[in-house]
Formats: sequence, structure tokens, C-alpha cells
Amino acid sequence: MSCILVPNGTPGFTTKKMTKKMMWRSSDTGELYFDDCRVPEENLLGKRGEGFHQMLQTLDNGRLAIAAMGLGGAQGAYELAMKYAKERKQFGKPISTFQINAFKLADMATEIEAARNLLYKACYLKDQGKPFGKEAAMAKLYCSEVMGRVVAEAVQIHGGYGLMKEYNIERFYRDHKLLTIGEGTSEVQRIVISRKIGCYDVD
Ligand SMILES: Cc1cc2nc3c(=O)[nH]c(=O)nc-3n(C[C@H](O)[C@H](O)[C@H](O)COP(=O)(O)OP(=O)(O)OC[C@H]3O[C@@H](n4cnc5c(N)ncnc54)[C@H](O)[C@@H]3O)c2cc1C
Repeated sequence: MSCILVPNGTPGFTTKKMTKKMMWRSSDTGELYFDDCRVPEENLLGKRGEGFHQMLQTLDNGRLAIAAMGLGGAQGAYELAMKYAKERKQFGKPISTFQINAFKLADMATEIEAARNLLYKACYLKDQGKPFGKEAAMAKLYCSEVMGRVVAEAVQIHGGYGLMKEYNIERFYRDHKLLTIGEGTSEVQRIVISRKIGCYDVD
């Protein structure tokens, strides 16, 4: 496999806007069609035959970005849940003082802190020019799944308002899902990690 640049306007190259997404509606997503599309060899990106390796390297970096989105989303959902739990009163007390909710917030804060440290370690390794593929996969898997757990409980803390569009937490709930699917699904991250830790005696 090789990577080759196909400029916009090349005959045979067409695009179609994808609509009706559940989440990330402000992010433009399109289908690309290459029908008998021809471009000169000088458009080769890097060397012939290196495409697969180039794409894998791209994924390692992309996983850091998705992990950061998961971490930021988890932090944002946690802050919204904390704010709401302190404002909302039931039985004469803020719902944050009910132990079940306080413990949920404690679990969120703990998982977010662990996610942050995992991601920062992966970024540190990359900054040092050291291998970071395993840590990037771990950070992507963990941060995206932590966001899933945090937003689910954050919606729960909001009660019925958590399901209404007038409260931002509803968007976090939808936006989170792509993070466990894009840039390699959670299942694929587990395959990558299990290879990297030597389960199959291959890299
Ligand atoms: C709007 C949008 C934007 C996206 N943006 C990006 C992006 O920027 N970058 C990016 O990388 N991806 C992105 N994706 C995700 C990407 O397009 C694919 O959806 C994703 O890689 C999963 O592939 P698939 O949909 O073909 O699922 P499939 O490969 O059909 O997988 C279906 C299910 O089977 C599981 N599965 C598949 N193979 C295995 C296996 N070998 N072992 C165990 N389980 C397996 C998967 O984990 C999944 O749960 C985006 C998706 C959408 C909808």
C-alpha cells in the first residue's frame, strides 16, 4: 500500500456530504469516491509501499487526540454534574450531599485523574522521541471509556433534565460515542495492547 495525494477537482474524484449523524454535527463528514481517478506518480506521499506504516503512525498520533477529547469531555461532564448537584435541592438538601451522588462524583474525579496521568505519560513519551504506541492505545481506550462512564452518571445526576436539550450534558452523552469507535474501536485498542504486551509473541 502507498499513500498518494488526489487534489480536489481531479476527474473521477467526487464527494458526498454525510448528514443525519447522531453526534459531532458541527464536524463536516463526507464520503469520498475515486472512480478511474488518475494522478501523477509525483503525488506519492513518502515512499512507494510505505502507506500501511504511514497510516499506523498516523493512528498512534490520532489516538492521543481522541484520548484528549475523552479526557476533556469527561472533565467537562464532571464539572456540569458537580455544578448541578450542588444547585439542585431535594428533600431540603443539595443532591450532592446524598452519599450515592457524592460517591459517583468521587469515582468520576478518580477516574479522570487516572485518565489524565495515562494520557500525559503517552504524550511525554512522544515528546521524548520514545516509542509510545502502547501507551497511546491505552490512553485512547481508557480516556474514551472513562468519558462514557462519566457522562452516563452525569446525565443520571441531572435526572430528567439530563435528557433535555436545554441542558448541555445531553450533547456530551451523544458526542462521547464516537470516541470508542473512531481511530480504532475499543476492541481494536485491546487487540493492539494485547499484542504490545506480548500475548501473541508478535509486535
Ligand atoms: C462521523 C464519523 C467520523 C469518523 N471519523 C473517524 C476518524 O476521523 N478516524 C478514524 O479512524 N475513524 C473514524 N470513524 C470511525 C470509522 O469510520 C469506522 O467506523 C471504525 O473504524 C469502525 O469500522 P466499521 O464501522 O467498519 O466497524 P466494523 O469493523 O464493522 O466493526 C464492527 C464491530 O466489530 C468489532 N470488530 C471488528 N473487527 C474486530 C476484530 N478483529 N476483533 C474484535 N472485534 C472486532 C468492532 O470493534 C465493532 O464493535 C468515524 C466514524 C463516523 C461515523
